[in-house]
Amino acid sequence: MFPDTPVHVRSQHDQQPGLRDDGPKEECGVFGVSTPHGEGIAQLAFFGLFALQHRGQEAAGIAVSDGSRVRCHKDTGLVANVFTPATMATLTGYHAIGHTRYSTTGANAHRNHQPFLVETMHGPLAVAHNGNLVNAGALREELLAKGFGLTATSDTEVLTLMLAAAGGKTWEDRIERTLPAWKGAYSLVLVVNDRVIAVRDPWGFRPMSVGRLPHGGYAVASETCALNTLGCIEIDEVQPGEIVTLQGAELTRRQALTPSATPARCTFEFVYFSRPDSVWAGRNVHHVRQRLGEQLAIESGVDADVVIPVPDSSIPAAIGYSRAAGIEHNDGLIKNRYIGRTFIEPTQDLRERGVALKFNALSENLAGKRVVMIDDSLVRGTTAGPLVKLLRDAGATEVHVRITCPPITHACHFGVDMGHDGDLMAARHTVDEMRDLIGADSLAFLSLEGMMRAIEPENEGSEQGYCNACYTGHYPMPVDEAQPKLSFEGALS
Ligand code: SF4
Repeated sequence: MFPDTPVHVRSQHDQQPGLRDDGPKEECGVFGVSTPHGEGIAQLAFFGLFALQHRGQEAAGIAVSDGSRVRCHKDTGLVANVFTPATMATLTGYHAIGHTRYSTTGANAHRNHQPFLVETMHGPLAVAHNGNLVNAGALREELLAKGFGLTATSDTEVLTLMLAAAGGKTWEDRIERTLPAWKGAYSLVLVVNDRVIAVRDPWGFRPMSVGRLPHGGYAVASETCALNTLGCIEIDEVQPGEIVTLQGAELTRRQALTPSATPARCTFEFVYFSRPDSVWAGRNVHHVRQRLGEQLAIESGVDADVVIPVPDSSIPAAIGYSRAAGIEHNDGLIKNRYIGRTFIEPTQDLRERGVALKFNALSENLAGKRVVMIDDSLVRGTTAGPLVKLLRDAGATEVHVRITCPPITHACHFGVDMGHDGDLMAARHTVDEMRDLIGADSLAFLSLEGMMRAIEPENEGSEQGYCNACYTGHYPMPVDEAQPKLSFEGALS
């Protein structure tokens, strides 16, 4: 389902039967760039964000500093729709940050779009955030008790105001003093008058890398694919707990917080979120996904004639499964990659056809065949059933569904919107029940051991250093205080 899914057909459509998406939602992408010459700074930010579009399709924004002023443009929509030549022309300067948004805290409303820009006693400050704080509710209450007025309902505003009020000589000092109060996932970029600063939480939940631009300056991004797009060299991961400052031709790094003794890289980045050409923790995402497919074939082989992916994120895993199982790999589902841009209300008849708006089956490759369908995850279970039916209607004689991660039984509180525990199909049903509900001949999930073996082959599948809480319920920190996505909406509408 990668890179421009899950179907996100504007929020009002999400409530319509047949168009509701089964997948977890992307969780935001952040980007920052600083050059000594300032040439084309907004374009650099635009193309960085363009490469991170898969991490959020609700809204996009860029903030640029020219050394004394920060200008910001942000709006609802895809990167290519939000920015026009006219808006780009206003974004001149030397230092820029950008954001692609999917809302994990707060509604998809303009007041929550990022970057957040505020005036502080130290000059302007703009902040963009990927992640989710589990103690945002308590921090919000503290700000309100101190007399702050809040205009938004996302945890990013809380981070921004805490930084604005912090004491310290430099922005790096103020950030370092504030960090210990934040619990949860945050890969942050900030732009102030004379620099861009990037920060990653000490658990390392979300990816973040920095690289040198070919014509001077540096860029930082959620994923290496954005740095590759700009031709960056010397790409390196921003370490958990690290503050990285980009200031024209200079890059400085400061280990502000000791990395957690229990680091928690999100394994779902490998399974689903990250672009396959990105590299994280020294691992190419495409290769990891191929190994996920190979492990699936080893664990859950079945007599079949053809292996097909649910495009796009499952394509590498289907190749891996096919290779390990010795079964032909072919396309069986063709995806309409533009459905995310649909603004036209479908008719009732079309709505009832459900996934047909998004997928069509290639009956020429399916008729009379026993099919293995590879998918990356089964979250609410609303898409798998219609896909199985689509394959049967196209002539498949058997449909065996194979999922490249373990059953998802617990909600994520670290920046991935999977809904509540009660929304999750695997939290309510056994595997056999799920098989019957989606109408498959068989259903199998990759084991946790198998998934980790694909991610960490050199360490024999060690779980050390990773978060697997949505499969195991073992959260890397207490989540009792974690707030539902829309819990701060109450007073603001
Ligand atoms: S709970 Fe799941 S989705 Fe969330 S950070 Fe952990 S592994 Fe990733």
